Amino acid sequence: MNLTDPAAKMRGLSARQRSALDAMGIVTVRDLLFHFPFRHDDFSNLASLAELQSGAEATIVAKIGKMRSRRSFRRRMNVTEAELDDGTGTITAIWFNQPYLTKYLKTGETYRFAGKVAKTKFGLRLSNPLYGSEGGDSRVVNPFMPVYPLSSGISQHVLRRLVRDAMPAAEDLEEHLSEDILDNHGLMSLQDAVRSIHFPEVGKERDEAIRRLAFDELLRLQLVVGRTKKLRAGKTAPAVPFDQTAVSEFVASLPFTLTGDQKRAAWEAIRDMEKGAPMHRLLDGDVGSGKTAVAAIAAADAAAAGYQTVIMAPTEILAFQHFKTLGMLFGRKMKLALWTNAYKRSRSGGRETDCKGKAAAARLAARIADGKIPVIVGTHALVEKGLEFSRLALVVIDEQHRFGVRTRKLLCGKGAAGGLEPHLLSMTATPIPRSLALTIYGDLDLSLLKEKPKDRQRITTKVVSPRGREKAYGFIRQQLAAGRQAFVVCPLIDKSDMLGVTSVTEEHERLKREVFADVEVGMLHGRMSAAEKEKVMGRFREGECAVLVSTSVVEVGVDVPNATVMCVEGADRFGLAQLHQFRGRVGRGEHRSYCFLFPASEGVTVRERLLAMEATDDGFALAEKDLKMRGPGDLLGEEQSGHFPALRMASAADMGLIRDAREAAQKILEEDPDISKNSALREFVGDSVEAAHLE
Ligand code: ADP
Ligand code: MG
Repeated sequence: MNLTDPAAKMRGLSARQRSALDAMGIVTVRDLLFHFPFRHDDFSNLASLAELQSGAEATIVAKIGKMRSRRSFRRRMNVTEAELDDGTGTITAIWFNQPYLTKYLKTGETYRFAGKVAKTKFGLRLSNPLYGSEGGDSRVVNPFMPVYPLSSGISQHVLRRLVRDAMPAAEDLEEHLSEDILDNHGLMSLQDAVRSIHFPEVGKERDEAIRRLAFDELLRLQLVVGRTKKLRAGKTAPAVPFDQTAVSEFVASLPFTLTGDQKRAAWEAIRDMEKGAPMHRLLDGDVGSGKTAVAAIAAADAAAAGYQTVIMAPTEILAFQHFKTLGMLFGRKMKLALWTNAYKRSRSGGRETDCKGKAAAARLAARIADGKIPVIVGTHALVEKGLEFSRLALVVIDEQHRFGVRTRKLLCGKGAAGGLEPHLLSMTATPIPRSLALTIYGDLDLSLLKEKPKDRQRITTKVVSPRGREKAYGFIRQQLAAGRQAFVVCPLIDKSDMLGVTSVTEEHERLKREVFADVEVGMLHGRMSAAEKEKVMGRFREGECAVLVSTSVVEVGVDVPNATVMCVEGADRFGLAQLHQFRGRVGRGEHRSYCFLFPASEGVTVRERLLAMEATDDGFALAEKDLKMRGPGDLLGEEQSGHFPALRMASAADMGLIRDAREAAQKILEEDPDISKNSALREFVGDSVEAAHLE
């Protein structure tokens, strides 16, 4: 078997299974080897039969005594029973509807079994245990069973067998790291890492494999970042002269006084744009820290020099919101356009015009293409064909992690003034500690908005123990009775439940029936259609629905100023930075707001971590604390995955490893700036999606 052989040609696959592989992007045997498990079920703790207790998940090694398979008429199914004996005691294993088992398992042979121990009137039973020996059977119970991301049409079981069958091909994997690097950073070889990530024998081996693979991801990122930075330094952007009069006038016209951080950030952007090299700046500030105003100042400066700015937001609603906010900030002075699939509008002299029909939209596009409209706000629709710019100098991307690098590239490639590269200002509301940001976003300059505008109210936060739950509900009912609204966020049960459907539907049922019976309780999760979601959100926004139960993956990012309560179930499962984001969804109106955190587990560390939420509303301080207590995983993980789709293993990395990878990358680039000397490394980096897009 070769690494490049088609995975779909592997033995015993049905058409449905082949298309499931396809859907997961598994084309070759190599892809199969690099389809890493997201966790392992731990069957490494062997128990002896003498010590087994009812209710336990146990792994045992035992010999099969008597075994029989029969049809149970009462239960209307086939039942297979086997007596197991490990020398310390006996137990009966029982399987339902697996009559072929008697062919696999032989009396007198020893196997490993893993399953749940249950007490029956006939004594202890091991029901439906996994079983196996070190053989070719796919149901082998390894000490660690890999659990893979799946797509419908294929089972864990089949995927495990495929990966196991593909394992011999791992021998052909070429090492792309030098002996030096492997030694210096104490890393296992690529071949070993790939083998061990799937079927480790001991926990330490798996951890080492993760470490090596995480190092690879981080190294690739650092190599790409290093090269991108160099390439960019060679590019030219329109030099935007600082127009002090225009900027001062605009700032003076704002309905508020800028915070110190806003002033600094705006000034940094203005200075960057003066240079002939493209700006690449990340503006990082909590929700409500006033990032839009900073972008508006940069846009005002560019407009004064006759240039255009485009501002791209991830959703229609956010784009619409920006258009409104900018309209208010700029007043009558600036022409604006809104360009999304649903909305096409222009604003001139303080008046808005709808440009919905085809002809009107085309006229709007023509005015944008002529450079007559200096500020254009929109969604992804901005990058589609049919819209061009001619005087583009500044691209602003809101919630940058929500966009692929490709989108950003496409937008930046659209009619920058004089065929040059536009300046780029990315914005994010995910507070990232400076130390981490500089390492992972090494190619960006960073402006932080840590300071909040003065008039912001603090949200009262409370960690609620199980005993306090009823009281908290009582309080929430009072808020609802006063006409306010509440969010309830539920965590995912586990990663295979990516859409969180189970937890949300259950919680929705429970709240509707037992807790908030007098009001409308809505539900939002990832398996609903866009139209259904929009309908639910609409009812919530209009105040018809009082309580909204949703997953964290579903975007609730809209402004509902009347919502004053945020409840987070399983709060201990979330990073502090993420909890802080949830909390930011309330406190947006004139009413005092509250955040209740319900931890799913108890414990001193859980409590200490969550109590930090009570103590501070500074997102950066919380992110630092997360970094200290849980490592960079949460910050690198899901939140950032849009930005770095290839960071899968690295979310388990620590700051030390991130530094190691950075150091190794710098060394490699010093000795071999184009990465042309080591062909395996070249291929490893070149393969990367990021590499192709960032350049
Ligand atoms: P975010 O950083 O979350 O994008 P916005 O830019 O949307 O924040 O700003 C949130 C709100 O705060 C807006 O209504 C904006 O007009 C207002 N705002 C921005 N800066 C200030 C300030 N310095 N003082 C008072 N209000 C401000
Ligand atoms: Mg914003």
